[in-house]
Amino acid sequence: MDSHNLASLPTLSETVKIHRLGANKKLGQHFLLDMNVTDQIARLALPLEGSHIVEIGPGPGGLTRALLKNNASAVTAIEMDDRFLAPLADIKAVSGDRLSIIHGDALNVHIAKELGPDRPIKIAANLPYNVGTKMLVNWLTANPLFWTQAVLMFQKEVAQRIVAAPGDSGYGRLAILSQSVCMCRLAFEVPAKSFSPPPKVDSAVVVFDPLPEDKRFKDLKKLGELTQAAFGQRRKMLRKSLRPFAKKYDLVLEDWFETCGAVVTQRPEELSVSQFQKLAGYSSITISPSKSSKDKP
Ligand code: SAM
Repeated sequence: MDSHNLASLPTLSETVKIHRLGANKKLGQHFLLDMNVTDQIARLALPLEGSHIVEIGPGPGGLTRALLKNNASAVTAIEMDDRFLAPLADIKAVSGDRLSIIHGDALNVHIAKELGPDRPIKIAANLPYNVGTKMLVNWLTANPLFWTQAVLMFQKEVAQRIVAAPGDSGYGRLAILSQSVCMCRLAFEVPAKSFSPPPKVDSAVVVFDPLPEDKRFKDLKKLGELTQAAFGQRRKMLRKSLRPFAKKYDLVLEDWFETCGAVVTQRPEELSVSQFQKLAGYSSITISPSKSSKDKP
């Protein structure tokens, strides 16, 4: 089936009217009804043929249509709100066998198991604001990493935090985790007025391309714990904010910092992603917490 058949569908605005799809704020619903924008998002994930695309929260199906129009050969859309099952079924009916729909909470769907190993997996979504960051962290920390690319829309402020560099106001845990796994690029911004209903803030689309396996930082749990401690008190010098962490892992702060070329009087936003990785990867950290020096042989 080709895009000609997709063109036979009612427009997205008509679809919303026909199915009376008022937005449910609790589910973070803001719809993109402008097919130029959904098309622009889908094209960031090209080529779509040969991959299995998982779309989270298709809603009335704007991005779903754009993915299919751009020759996606397999799309699985996971939607929690059952009101969208009918319009999604209409898209499925004209898409050949290319669209599958899962009705459920994407946080509870084991994507790799559902989609199977046959094709590489790409994720595309205009994510619900309330759970978007949680989903991203789940996907970044998945072991093994089950996806080969993600094209995701977030609130602009979250997108800026993902791509932030040291010294930027948004630089913190999310940037360090994201950039330890992927090359992350803010592709374009989408103004609030492009959505129906418009949210309070603008959005932006981020493209995540996983780093080669040997360049990815592996101990993301430790990195998360470290960055949480460091940026939890971002105005403080690391000597103070990381004291409990150093104590927990039996580290001498000054020695530990020497391994990454930083000093304990610095503040967290001054350290690079690779310096945080060195701190988290420092071999002594693997000593089990609570094991104090007097326990050592
Ligand atoms: N993709 C559509 C668009 O661009 O017009 C809708 C985007 S809207 C921001 C987010 C969508 O995610 C809604 O359809 C909402 O029902 C759905 N959603 C919210 N939480 C979800 C969850 N936990 N699992 C699956 N879908 C969810």
